[in-house]
Parts: sequence; structure tokens; C-alpha cells
Amino acid sequence: MTGDTAHPVCVVIGPNAGQFDQYVAERKALETVSGAYRDVQVNSLHIAGKRVSYLDWFNQLRADVDPNARPFGTFDPPSLAEMHLVSRLARDGLPSVSIGEFQRGRARLDALLRGEPAVVAVTTTFSFEPKPVREIVDFVRERSPRTKVIVGGPYIWNLVQSPSRRGQDLLFGEMGADAFVIDSQGETTLARVVKIFAEGRDDELARTPNVAFAVDGKWVRTERAEENNSLDQNRVDWTLFDADSIRPFTMTRTAISCPFACSFCTYPLRAGEHRLASLETMEAELRVLDSLGVKFVDFIDDTFNVPLPRFKDLCRMLIRNRFSFRWISYLRCGNMDEEAVRLAAESGCVGALLGIESGSRPVLENMNKFANPDKYRKAIRWLEDAGVMCWALLFVGFPGETTETVAETVALVRDAAPTFFGAQIWFYDSKTPIAARGAEFTLKGNGYGWRHNTMDWRTAADGAEQLIRTPNDSLYLPQTAFTLETFMYLMGKGYQKTTLLEFLRVARAIVIDGLGDQVVDLAKYDAPITAIKRELAAVA
Ligand code: SF4
Repeated sequence: MTGDTAHPVCVVIGPNAGQFDQYVAERKALETVSGAYRDVQVNSLHIAGKRVSYLDWFNQLRADVDPNARPFGTFDPPSLAEMHLVSRLARDGLPSVSIGEFQRGRARLDALLRGEPAVVAVTTTFSFEPKPVREIVDFVRERSPRTKVIVGGPYIWNLVQSPSRRGQDLLFGEMGADAFVIDSQGETTLARVVKIFAEGRDDELARTPNVAFAVDGKWVRTERAEENNSLDQNRVDWTLFDADSIRPFTMTRTAISCPFACSFCTYPLRAGEHRLASLETMEAELRVLDSLGVKFVDFIDDTFNVPLPRFKDLCRMLIRNRFSFRWISYLRCGNMDEEAVRLAAESGCVGALLGIESGSRPVLENMNKFANPDKYRKAIRWLEDAGVMCWALLFVGFPGETTETVAETVALVRDAAPTFFGAQIWFYDSKTPIAARGAEFTLKGNGYGWRHNTMDWRTAADGAEQLIRTPNDSLYLPQTAFTLETFMYLMGKGYQKTTLLEFLRVARAIVIDGLGDQVVDLAKYDAPITAIKRELAAVA
């Protein structure tokens, strides 16, 4: 992904997407005790007796018209975490490269490991278990036993929040890295540890804050010294990267953390105080991205339009610069007004990810969302009328949910008519604030296997199916493997918006046909599939 650094000190590795088949098999194995497989069914297609992701099916249609087409991957646009780390290490005089997603970057990593880099750094932004990390660690050990492996990021930070030290130690051992960075930010710690390993001063590890490592088979943790890195001083140095790797679609951020406290979310607890980059910093960075020919920018801020006056100033800055890229981001409907929508559209906003969650007022209150369905309806209409495609993100089953409240969510999608919606079953993480109200809701279980006083995961799975089955004017976008980001990335690759919308229309019908693993008669979609392939062939 980066330009050729002949002898990097550190190789940074992005997510390990694993194999979709394995992901499905693992969830199917739990289908009697958890809603994980039902969630897969709502978010994938059942074709020729097999579950395939939306993106895999898109790749299959492309392969039918061009057998040499390189399949697209969910993580083709490089992750911001990798680019941040490479930039930070470079600033500290530690030349580094990133390889992107592990499965697609294996050959490049293999070649880099022949040069025995001092360190491989593994990010865990999209990890939920130790296995994908272990796969990377084994890959490195087999090829370059002297290379040290450091693992950090959200999965490790979440892990060290768990109360059981013994449990943490077991998982550290399962992953098998040489050192773990235990800070929610961690880039300063990573730079220190990379330098220590690169210079062979391993005994200094014990005096370096925020690290876990093994001594004689026992895991020790050094003192905690919370990092507080400035967003302005820690920007990505885009010139370090091969321009082709950040075109047509790239991510950046103008803020870290979130000023809200939704009761189903741990993000503000993990990320700390809400911090904003200055508009001057953003303007300079966006000028670089524009000059590199980026077509779509994804501002990955969790609440891009908060605070609202700053958001309006940011939009005015984009307008003033007449940038040629278009942008998408998470926007909070509750914080929108008509002027903000107008400025967003004028500044190039073409897509909004909206954490709607539910169409029911009491459920939203339990979620501590500070939002209501009327405001949702209004904001979605303003955005859609201004030409911004909305993706309403929903989940079913939060405490307080009933079949009646699910019907309110179904009605919200029908009335508001966002371009896209997506539905999931609520995933219960006991580290989220709602756990403190567990007794009130008689909340039991965890993950996708839970029940409370108004619903259990099975009824929630029925509700998620009801959302996708009920006819409306919106298209369904799954929350993995073909998101709004994928949609924009594919547009950047030359696919027509109309082709992608038609693909999603047919995909939704096929998902519905295949619910409950029903056999799908694909022949009935022959005509639209042939038309889609014709459009895909025009790009191939
Ligand atoms: S769900 Fe979004 S708005 Fe709510 S706390 Fe989490 S990041 Fe903030």
C-alpha cells in the first residue's frame, strides 16, 4: 500500500478479514443458542446452497463478464489506523510500510519478511477474537522468527478492560505476540516499543508505560500513562503513500471520540474526551488529498456534525476551496437543521450514515439517544431532497423492544424513505452502559444470545427479517461487505450509480427468498442479472 521503502523497520498490518465461509460456519454452529447466524442470513445471499456476501456476489457477476477481473475486497480502501501508524512511525525516524488487509497482503508481507524487519505491528480495529491475530503472528514467526510482533488497537484495549486478569493473560497467550500496547490511543507507545526492539534494548520494555509482555511465561503489565495525542500534530502524511492506494476513496477524520453516551455503545468510554482537529489542519490535509485526485473522502468521525457551528464552518471551508472530491460521513439527525443540510450538500456531501437505531420513542429513550422519530423523518427528508443518499442503520432487540416497537421502526423506514437501510440483531456487550440497568430489564446472556423482559434474540431475529421483508422504497445495504463506503468506492472505480442501485434491488429480493436458508430460484432474476452484467462489462 505504501511506496517502496526498501528496508522498513516496521511493517504495519491492517485487518484480517478471514474467509467468509468460515465466518458463516462458525455462526451456524451456534444457531440454536444465538442470533449470530440469523444476522448472517439477513445480511448475505443464499446462492446455490451456499451463503455469499453481497460483495462476493458482485465479484461473481463481474467474473462472469471478465474472468480476469481482480475481486474487490471489503478492506480495499486502506484503513486510517494503518496510515496513522505509518505516518507516526515515520515522524519518529522509523521507516515503515503498511500492507493493508492481511489476506490480500500475504504475498507482499511474505516478501517484506525476507528482509527481516525488526517489527510487525498488528492493528485490531475490526477484530473481535484472538484467532485472526494468531494467524498473523504464526505467519510472521514461520518466515522471520527474529521479527517481533506488537499488537494494539481497540480489541486489546477492550480486552484489558475486562475484570479477569487471568482471562486477559489467556488471550494474550492465545495471540502469542511479543508485546501488547494497552492504551486506547497507543501510537506513542507503539513508536517507543518499535524503537526498543529495533535497537535491541528489550530490557527497557519494563520501563515503558502501557505495555504487556511475557517474562518467563508470565504476563506483566507496565505502569499506565494515558496518551493524549494531539489530532493536529498527528495527521496522516499522505505523501508517504502510493497515490493509487488512496484513490479513488480514502478516509480521514476531523475528530476523535463522541460527546454522547448512547447506552449500547462503548466508543466514548474507549476513546475518551471528544477532541477536534482545527479547521486549518483539515484544510491543509484536504488540499493534499484533492491534489492527489481522490474522488471520495469518508470522514470517519462518529458525529461529524457535532458541534453544529463547527460543522457549518467546515462545510464553508470545503465550499470555499471548490474541492473536486465528494464526501460521506456519519451525521446525527438530531443535530441537523436546514442550513446545515444545504451547506453539506453544497460542499459535496453525497452520502450520510445515520445511526437511527430504532423508530420507537421509548426504545430511543432507553438507548439514551437524545433523538426522536419525528426529527428522524424530517432530517432524512431534508437530506434526501438535497441529493444526499441516506443509509439508516437500525438494530432490533434493545431493552424495551417489543413487536409493536419493531413495527414503529418498519413504519419509520417506509415513511422517511431513506435511499438505504440496514438491519441487525442487537449485540449485547456487557461493557456497554445498558448493563448497569440489567436487573431492571432482567437482562441475561451476551453477544447475539440474550433475553430480557420484553424480547429475546429469536424474536429480534424475526424483527430484523420483518424489516427487510416489508416492502418500501428503500434499498437494503448490509452492515458488512457492501456498505455505503463500498458503494462510493465502486462508484470511484467507474461503476454507475444506477447499476449499483439495481444490483442492490435484486440482491434484496434474493436475500428475502433465501431467508431460513430456502433454496433460491435465481432463474426468475435472469433478466435483471443479465442487464446488470451488461453494465458491469462496460466498466471491465
Ligand atoms: S452510538 Fe454514536 S453517537 Fe452514540 S455514543 Fe456511540 S459513537 Fe456516540
